[in-house]
Amino acid sequence: MKPDIQRKIFACFDGNSKAASLEGLALELLSRQKNTWRNLSESYSALDNVSVRDLHCDGYSIKLQLNHGRILSSAANLDLKFIEKRSCFLCVEHLPEEQSAILYGNEFLILCNPAPIFPQHYTIASVRHEPQFIEGSLAAMFALAKDFGARFHVIYNGPCCGASAPDHLHFQAFLAGELPIENDIRDERKRILVKSHKGVFLYKMEGVGRAVLLLEGNDWRQVEAYLSRIINAIKRSLNVSDEPMMNLLCTFHEDIWHVMLFPRRKHRPDVYFRTDAEKMLISPGAIDMAGLVITPLEKNFTRLDVSLIKEIFREVSSDEGMVAGIIEGL
Ligand SMILES: [Zn+2]
Repeated sequence: MKPDIQRKIFACFDGNSKAASLEGLALELLSRQKNTWRNLSESYSALDNVSVRDLHCDGYSIKLQLNHGRILSSAANLDLKFIEKRSCFLCVEHLPEEQSAILYGNEFLILCNPAPIFPQHYTIASVRHEPQFIEGSLAAMFALAKDFGARFHVIYNGPCCGASAPDHLHFQAFLAGELPIENDIRDERKRILVKSHKGVFLYKMEGVGRAVLLLEGNDWRQVEAYLSRIINAIKRSLNVSDEPMMNLLCTFHEDIWHVMLFPRRKHRPDVYFRTDAEKMLISPGAIDMAGLVITPLEKNFTRLDVSLIKEIFREVSSDEGMVAGIIEGL
């Protein structure tokens, strides 16, 4: 192991650890980091006074969070030439001096997210500098969701739809309970069963203003296999060989795996690129697609309304026809 990594380790978790739960270790890490890292402590304190607005769209709701600390992520320059030249902020040698980590299965470092959206918010970065790419890492996502436990969600943002480090494989984990989509998926009228296979059930969400596929099953290998099939079906429907644009949200709750897949056709909406007063610094990833829309600028937070949100979702999400094609192609 690189000495840089060794130096950063606060604890190790290998999945067989009986001594401590991952949730407990992660909470302890956060608590220690708040004591030793002033900027981190201030960014979590700022969350206590964060402004939130509810917007009631037709049949579903979303929450807006005004979060000044997210400016670097929302405004991240994702130009490939720029990414190649900048030093990667998820590589261990570039982590802030004060930052420490939980080494997870020798493969990932669990880090306190320095720009939190939730009171417990972690970034889970590969120990290697390797591109953000889900194929081959689905099993890690399922393991993380199980080890973090039912109180947490684990998310994956595709390299072209929300990941601010598309060149370094990473997930995020955070406390569940604050995402509006959690209410929607409990509403039987909104979840339409479209397929089932080997104990895995595929639902399409209706009436939520954007494309959401939900997979549920109690055998992660079967859920993983079905998820791979869906990803391949999206590739075929778009006629692409690279990873299709998407966000994933995975939870393990009452012995059932729940995976939400948000198929996308665009990362940032047109209003992001405007140069006049209409510009909106909104850069949707899994959290936004799950209904908690983050904006770092007060003027955007105040001006965002139902029609703008509906338009942004319509623009960045796959449309009805694409979703129908994906399901047909399974
Ligand atoms: Zn890196």
